[in-house]
Amino acid sequence: MYPLARALRPKTFAEVQGHASVIRALRSVLYPLKHHTFLLSGPRGLGKTTLSRLIGQALLCSQPSPQGPCGVCQTCVEIHEGRYTDFIEIDAASKTKVEEIRELVQSSYALPLQGKYKIYLFDEAHMLSTHSFNALLKAFEEPPAHVVYILATTDPHKILPTVRSRCLSFHLQSPSSQDLLVYLEQLCQQQSIQFHPALLAGIVTQAQGSYRDLLNVYQHALLIGGGSLVDPVLYEILAVIDDAYWQAFFQAYAQADLVAIRTMLGTALQKVDPDLFLRQLFQALYHQSVLSEAQRAYFYAQISEFPRLGSLHPDRNRLLEVLIVKSLVDFDLLEEKKNSDVTP
Ligand SMILES: [Zn+2]
Repeated sequence: MYPLARALRPKTFAEVQGHASVIRALRSVLYPLKHHTFLLSGPRGLGKTTLSRLIGQALLCSQPSPQGPCGVCQTCVEIHEGRYTDFIEIDAASKTKVEEIRELVQSSYALPLQGKYKIYLFDEAHMLSTHSFNALLKAFEEPPAHVVYILATTDPHKILPTVRSRCLSFHLQSPSSQDLLVYLEQLCQQQSIQFHPALLAGIVTQAQGSYRDLLNVYQHALLIGGGSLVDPVLYEILAVIDDAYWQAFFQAYAQADLVAIRTMLGTALQKVDPDLFLRQLFQALYHQSVLSEAQRAYFYAQISEFPRLGSLHPDRNRLLEVLIVKSLVDFDLLEEKKNSDVTP
């Protein structure tokens, strides 16, 4: 199976998902090139290697434009596929000997074979030893005009501070569940894939903030689902909250059974994060037939506060529980008050 994540890897800046501010900043330092040492950091699976290659493409593209690399010229294609001679990728986890790094620095002074620049990408750069970083330091202090160094790492604090301070740093942020969901929905539409929205939310949960994992889970789900995302078996595999759960949840809510609500909430939040729980809850709330219209509307209004309050709260699971329980209690009080008002 050819990984979809590889097939969809961006060939131009415009194709990069998210990271808009990083792309904007890169455009402004690459045209013309104002800095020769870069540090790209961020959690795994966000495209640090891809972005490094795009920097290479931007600098060496044979049809350069301020918008970024063309993505289709021979140079762009070769860099994208990792086979351009002057774009040198070093896996810092395996190249640990200081002699190897010294040799590398020495060879960087030789002019590029093909284009204007030679670009060195150190992947997993935090794995380099202090000796290796020291061997790099001189080159980072005064890089030759034809050389660009890029350090990519999940752990920028393990980069020797003297090296780090020489770099122009870019930090890639994990996409939100919402970003991933929107992206996945667009992808399904582009590929004419039939889907249940709840299953897309399940795929997003499994992806844990990474586009690469998102595409891998999506591809596996399609394989299991026989080319669509509607098969009931996927609910179980993707840990999606099913109708039976919601039925029981709203029953407990209607009976004001707080113990049951708390238990059910705890079980669900072990599988999905509060945002995805809420998204699925909203959908289920809309279709449920247990609560009265007034109670449904009140419940919805109260828990809709979660996204606003959640960004400030240290324990989002707890906050969700509090909002749900509070909505129940408040509603009862409200009804009681209403009833006592009309009683003479
Ligand atoms: Zn190009």
